[in-house]
Amino acid sequence: EYKPREVIRLLRNRLPERIQDLLEQIGRCGDELGVKVFVVGGFVRDLLLDLPNLDLDIVVEGDGIAFAEHYARQHQCRVRAHQKFGTAVIVLPDEFKVDVASTRVEFYLEPAALPTVENASIKLDLYRRDFTINTLAISLNGERFGEIHDFFGGLRDLRQKAIRVLHNLSFVEDPTRVFRAVRFEQRLEFHIGKQTEHLIRSAVRMGFLERLGGPRLLSELQHILEEEHPYPAIERLSQLDLLKFLHPSLDLPVDCEDLFDRATRSLNWFDLLYTEESCQRWLVYLLCLVTRLDDDAMQGLCDRLSIPGRYRSLLADERHRAHGVLKGMRRRWRQARRKPRNSDLYVWFEGFSIETLLYLMARIETEDVRRWVSLYVTRLRDEKSWIDGEDLKKMGIPPGPQYKEILRRVLLARLDGKATTREEEIAFVTRRYRSLIT
Ligand code: ATP
Repeated sequence: EYKPREVIRLLRNRLPERIQDLLEQIGRCGDELGVKVFVVGGFVRDLLLDLPNLDLDIVVEGDGIAFAEHYARQHQCRVRAHQKFGTAVIVLPDEFKVDVASTRVEFYLEPAALPTVENASIKLDLYRRDFTINTLAISLNGERFGEIHDFFGGLRDLRQKAIRVLHNLSFVEDPTRVFRAVRFEQRLEFHIGKQTEHLIRSAVRMGFLERLGGPRLLSELQHILEEEHPYPAIERLSQLDLLKFLHPSLDLPVDCEDLFDRATRSLNWFDLLYTEESCQRWLVYLLCLVTRLDDDAMQGLCDRLSIPGRYRSLLADERHRAHGVLKGMRRRWRQARRKPRNSDLYVWFEGFSIETLLYLMARIETEDVRRWVSLYVTRLRDEKSWIDGEDLKKMGIPPGPQYKEILRRVLLARLDGKATTREEEIAFVTRRYRSLIT
């Protein structure tokens, strides 16, 4: 279907020059060693779809590690090799990375043991992949540069916009592919093929997904929630009855689409304003997805997904407190309909991670109320009092744990405009804590 000439034209037109050069150098290196080399997988898929993707996945018919080391010697690169898997990463001087694999079949000598690796052909290597659209390979060797290899109908499925597995046991072999199928379907605006959807539903019915380990399940969910627009994939998971594998009582929340939409807007607002500060987008979306779960169910979900310790308190205590604050804010809005004092906002939101704050913004439908949170993010959260512990000492207040509380009170007064200068802060302390001054 694609002649090498056309593929070469696509490589020229759609890729930066240095990537074109890199591919040619990799081909030459293969010629020198007398091994066939291919660029495969997502890179080829996206090249043909005209989507940006510079993740080079190289497969060497033979020893990929020896290949990587040979290339690295010639081009002043570093190599990280994984002997056990016959894979290597070439790290270019500018830190650009290229993944290299050896064609291989993996034998599991005993259950749960690491695979033993043996050499095989490119076709066998590609047979182990998830979907036909990810099995396309382009030859890089001089003579054959630009030849497309399509062993499993990948080109047809790209044309038909179909996500299809290569064989009927695919989801049994690796149930994470169920989530990958949904992610690719929604990202590329493809559809899961009829037989493939049937296989997903069987795998679900037969309980194969329950065997999936927490970390792998989390990693797939994370990938979905890191997509540009995760909602369609979440809806599709729900439609395929897959949310229950995250937690038995997890359903698509009502108005979930609006909630995700507001989360996207909050996240984009934040990214635009704070380019230096990072925020875990997937956590904000996860908080949205599980918004209806009670604390116990949330605990269960964290256990099922083996959520790492560093995220646990955010998803447990912090989320619990955030829901309390949300209630308080609603009550306040119904009663007064005007902005609370800055010190109130500070007390409500103090200590929340940025992810929780953006989740709160997503949960709030009233724009005026949402501004209470954004005001905290932009103006209040980084405020400090002018005076510090040294000043309190000079004023004759005996040092101790009360310093923290006093300085916090000073800050709250400052936020409400009751002490705007250093002098006023000192006056505030003198007035309020007269009894402590010795
Ligand atoms: P993305 O843009 O999300 O990175 P990708 O296609 O590059 O998409 P990766 O997750 O980086 O996907 O995987 C790289 C390649 O490895 C894929 O093209 C796919 O063929 C293969 N692969 C990844 N995970 C699996 C799996 N669970 N089973 C089979 N093949 C897989």
